[in-house]
Amino acid sequence: MSKSNVPTGFDRFWLNEALVRGVSAAGFESPRSIQAETIPAGLEGRDVLGLAQTGTGKTAAFALPLLDRILQDNRRGARALVIAPTRELATQIVNEIRTLAQFTRLKTVTIYGGVPVYKQVTALKQRPEIVVGCPGRILDLLEQGLLHLDQVETLVLDEADHMFDMGFLPDIRKILGALPSDRQNLLFSATMPKEVRRLANDLLNSPHVVELANAAPAATIDHALVMVSERRKRDLLEHVLTSEECDSAIVFTRTKHRARRLAEQLSKAGHRAVGIQGNLSQAQRDRAMRGFRTRRFDILVATDIVARGIDVSGVSHVINFDVPNTPEAYTHRIGRTGRAEREGVACTFVTGSDHGWLRATERMIGLPIQRLQVEGFEPDPNERPNCSHNPRGNGRGGRPGRPGGSGRSSRPPQQGGWNNSSGGQRRRRTR
Ligand code: AMP
Repeated sequence: MSKSNVPTGFDRFWLNEALVRGVSAAGFESPRSIQAETIPAGLEGRDVLGLAQTGTGKTAAFALPLLDRILQDNRRGARALVIAPTRELATQIVNEIRTLAQFTRLKTVTIYGGVPVYKQVTALKQRPEIVVGCPGRILDLLEQGLLHLDQVETLVLDEADHMFDMGFLPDIRKILGALPSDRQNLLFSATMPKEVRRLANDLLNSPHVVELANAAPAATIDHALVMVSERRKRDLLEHVLTSEECDSAIVFTRTKHRARRLAEQLSKAGHRAVGIQGNLSQAQRDRAMRGFRTRRFDILVATDIVARGIDVSGVSHVINFDVPNTPEAYTHRIGRTGRAEREGVACTFVTGSDHGWLRATERMIGLPIQRLQVEGFEPDPNERPNCSHNPRGNGRGGRPGRPGGSGRSSRPPQQGGWNNSSGGQRRRRTR
């Protein structure tokens, strides 16, 4: 097929013409850093190790080379396999691939558990060229002889660290055994725990390594810690949600139960809030995500199930109502805002019992995180956390919804804003 010289920033890659049209239709004008670094190596057929957090544009970085390769001949059957840890991420990857491949005749199928298998089996009978799915269901279908992977030329493992966290690495190793040994491998991970490093060593052959801001929050995110006592968290949340700049927020809680209860409380208080957590059926999860994407809801209360990979544009705030379990989860959670180089705000409610988490997270990020204290929400002195290291002055202030002002978190916090509990703040998001 002819190569296009349509003048987009993507023309430097000499992609198949149909893909260049797809890129334009997606609204991508110039490649993001990860794309600029990954696509050429991908097109050369090299293995790639991408150390990048979500929101950087890594889906197109792996999708365009694999689509271009498939378009080089007409062989049918599953020619690319993309493995992702969660159903939400798999769905999002498929949507992006379908957008980019909309001017081709390539077919894509999504394979994950929690939904009836028959639709997926029917879709597989159409012999789609691209299979995207989660390890458990892929393995099931493989073992039942309903999925054939002997034509796979490109394997992508996305969010490999998350797959390790979820205990999927043994399943992945079994799936690898069903793939032809002569293939291209692309592995993406935000962090590299030693098990993932071992997998990468076994899997990748002289990979081209792309490392983007590993483990550091995206540069477009202002993030801060807000010191508060456990019993005032709910009021503080209300205070932040009703601030002028808060248009749409994801609120993270530690447990499924807390997510459900908080979503109910916010709805009762008049917010358009919806909860999403692992106890919901796939259909309920889809409905909640769809409602949030389409702005029927503007607050999503979630457990870490949606902390990775999910791309909802225009989330102005991520609020960690409870601190995440691990420092890595912090980066993933706050990566839900500031996506695609837009600005976003992330604030984490920190109580006296969160010392250990705080130390570990700042060690991982390599920088102290800005502390804010909101007037009227001062922490209980008996549970005051160890926040003596405050690199930014008095640690008070921050304008509404934007900790430390409009710049990065290295700016000194401004007075007013969150400290001003009612003045000048409009109530939003009430029915
Ligand atoms: P990802 O990290 O792949 O989830 O991408 C995050 C968001 O960035 C998605 O909404 C993509 O559609 C968008 N995106 C990816 N590449 C570009 C680009 N070159 N220009 C504009 N938006 C992009």
